[in-house]
Amino acid sequence: MELDDAGLNPERIAAAIHDQLGEAGGAVPVQDIARRLDITEIREMSFNGVEGVLITTPERPDGMIAVNARSSAKRRRFTLAHELGHFLMTHHRMVGRDGFRCSRSDMLARVEPGDAATAGLHLGQEAEANRFAIELLAPARRLKRYLHRPPDLARVLEISDAFEISREAAARRYVEQHRDNLAVLFGHHGRIIYLQKARGFPWITRAAAIRCPACPTELPGSRRWSRPTRPTGSTGRPASSSAPRSCASATTASSSCSMPR
Ligand SMILES: [Zn+2]
Repeated sequence: MELDDAGLNPERIAAAIHDQLGEAGGAVPVQDIARRLDITEIREMSFNGVEGVLITTPERPDGMIAVNARSSAKRRRFTLAHELGHFLMTHHRMVGRDGFRCSRSDMLARVEPGDAATAGLHLGQEAEANRFAIELLAPARRLKRYLHRPPDLARVLEISDAFEISREAAARRYVEQHRDNLAVLFGHHGRIIYLQKARGFPWITRAAAIRCPACPTELPGSRRWSRPTRPTGSTGRPASSSAPRSCASATTASSSCSMPR
């Protein structure tokens, strides 16, 4: 597999991989891809506070990747893709003498294009590895069939199953790619942990530590989009045909608002 012409852009590198894979259906074979790109060993190991490790050298002749055996299979796939991103983006500076060690928060790093210059080296390259990972595992070109209908958390679950990525990753991807201005709240034990919103979503600016909104209960799994009648809050923007919609996220038996991961 040759990526010499893809440059350093995460999405272009992932697209170059898919160009060579062809349009095969099903979940992206990330382990096979990693091995064909000189990852000589992939291990599952039990870590505390670390999701993935890449052992390599600055020149990247080859590498070894370890993923956290305690995480779900879908999350391990994302971690493997994230570490492969560090391996392929040779401008990423190693964290230690022998490679990269990436935490759960690293896997959530996201930097808006306009903020790249001020994000800092670590956050910037973690965000790039995440951009590569999601484009590799759920390529935009294969997501279109899930995006042409009005927002529905059922589509998030379909994306999670079809691409074998976590529901959390699928929800973030859905919000990012959908034409409407969407936001999704992630919560645990009734408290919002964080908010992922489209760039144009104007009216939730601070979500951490706020109690989750009540979840609907009429569906198994209690998942549904709720739609505010008009945006309120700091921006005071009027409602429009592309008015933002918020997501009262899915539920688990133990928590009224957390999305099963
Ligand atoms: Zn990382």
